[in-house]
Amino acid sequence: MIPVVALVGRPNVGKSTLFNRLTGTRDALVADFPGLTRDRKYGQANLAGHDFIVVDTGGIDGTEEGIETKMAEQSLMAIEEADVVLFMVDARAGLTAADEAIASHLRTRQKTTLLVANKTDGIDADAAVGEFYKLGHGDIHQIAAAQNRGVTSLIHYALAPFAEEFEKEHGDAPEEIDEWAEEAEAELPTEETAEEEAERLRNQPIKLAIIGRPNVGKSTLTNRILGEERVVVYDMPGSTRDSIYIPMERDEREYVLIDTAGVRRRKNMIEAVEKFSVIKSLQAIEDANVVLLVVDARTGISDQDLSLLGFALNAGRAIVLAVNKWDGLDTEVKEEVKRELDRRLGFVDFARLHFISALHGTGVGHLFESVQEAYDSATKRSSTAMLTRIMQMAQDDHQPPMVRGRRVKLKYAHAGGYNPPIVVVHGNQVRDLPDSYKRYLMNYYRRALQVMGTPIKVLFQEGA
Ligand code: GDP
Ligand code: GDP
Repeated sequence: MIPVVALVGRPNVGKSTLFNRLTGTRDALVADFPGLTRDRKYGQANLAGHDFIVVDTGGIDGTEEGIETKMAEQSLMAIEEADVVLFMVDARAGLTAADEAIASHLRTRQKTTLLVANKTDGIDADAAVGEFYKLGHGDIHQIAAAQNRGVTSLIHYALAPFAEEFEKEHGDAPEEIDEWAEEAEAELPTEETAEEEAERLRNQPIKLAIIGRPNVGKSTLTNRILGEERVVVYDMPGSTRDSIYIPMERDEREYVLIDTAGVRRRKNMIEAVEKFSVIKSLQAIEDANVVLLVVDARTGISDQDLSLLGFALNAGRAIVLAVNKWDGLDTEVKEEVKRELDRRLGFVDFARLHFISALHGTGVGHLFESVQEAYDSATKRSSTAMLTRIMQMAQDDHQPPMVRGRRVKLKYAHAGGYNPPIVVVHGNQVRDLPDSYKRYLMNYYRRALQVMGTPIKVLFQEGA
């Protein structure tokens, strides 16, 4: 399960700065769901070989009263859901009462907590951080988020316990973590690793996550699906943030339904349990092969729907969209909803869109045809010969531009992974190709490979 890192600290210590460092240029999901009184930011991050979710909990200073207490509660909930807490303090400002209040709260939680002193640039850091030992959180990790100093090794240290898999594959990280992180980034997947992945994916059940805002009808849909299908066994949730994993069969294919709504069956009763949790949704997306995003026809597409969709896209998941509560709407309203969907969901025109009623069961059966199709597209093997041929066709139709007086030359292409399909294009100066040409190639591959329901990635490797 992808780990969750929460950034905690009083206002102004540098949480947003670190958040932006960790998530790079990727969009943050700003949670503004009903029931949350304050925006928290969630992002996807990859650093030092670790994939993780990072949460900026917003500022708490431990002295809140009234409405502020409510707001702080939301941040405290994020702490409960995290695997690792980075407790940030400001090395320049020195120890404050707010830091102490937060420290004493954190000491009461059973959470792995690292004390991080930020803004250590341009000062005598060792001297400055000395007083923070009083907080009783052990070692102090010195960073300068704004300068990106110490950040990679901090993350490596924090997430090493979650990285056994990774270390098995790549061996131990060398001492120069930062250097190693750069190398890891430069190393693109090979045909062989892609083949192994394809093999693994073909032999496993399809993990299908049902995702959506509160009240869009996820529980109703899950019940509907489970009512119709043969359910093999049930897993009970381990903790509040865990989704329920439900193995099932359909049309002779095996699935594992990742149920974020928390439907569980007790004897013959089906009931919805937990409340909505952003982290739970994001982890389910990361863990799934196919994401079924449910939106509500009656409220229209919200920014949160788009954020969840963006997260699924960034994670490279195959996607099927379900517009629920399609029952009992008059034609005019239906037309209006369709226009809105066209306008706002144009960027995922590769994903199938279904109009359903989870309540009445209308259209629910057909969802699985698209789930199947999306998974098959995402895992369909592509040979080097075919990918190279498509690349040449694209190049013949539209020559790559000149870069520094030389024409960029594409040489060959091979598969670099599946779910999502990754195409690795080799050639001279390919990294310098303008984004417009990279997009052109991606769209060309999409059309030629006829992938429906999955994003694809095209990566570029210099030389042969
Ligand atoms: P937040 O309120 O905890 O999210 O803090 P911000 O990320 O907004 O940072 C507060 C201020 O500290 C901003 O002016 C940042 O530019 C500054 N800052 C953040 N990180 C560093 C750092 O590593 N060094 C220095 N000198 N300033 C920093
Ligand atoms: P969740 O929070 O996403 O799990 O949403 P629920 O499944 O609990 O549904 C929220 C509300 O929407 C409930 O009152 C449902 O009865 C209602 N609902 C769910 N699906 C449909 C549907 O297809 N049509 C209509 N009219 N109402 C629905």
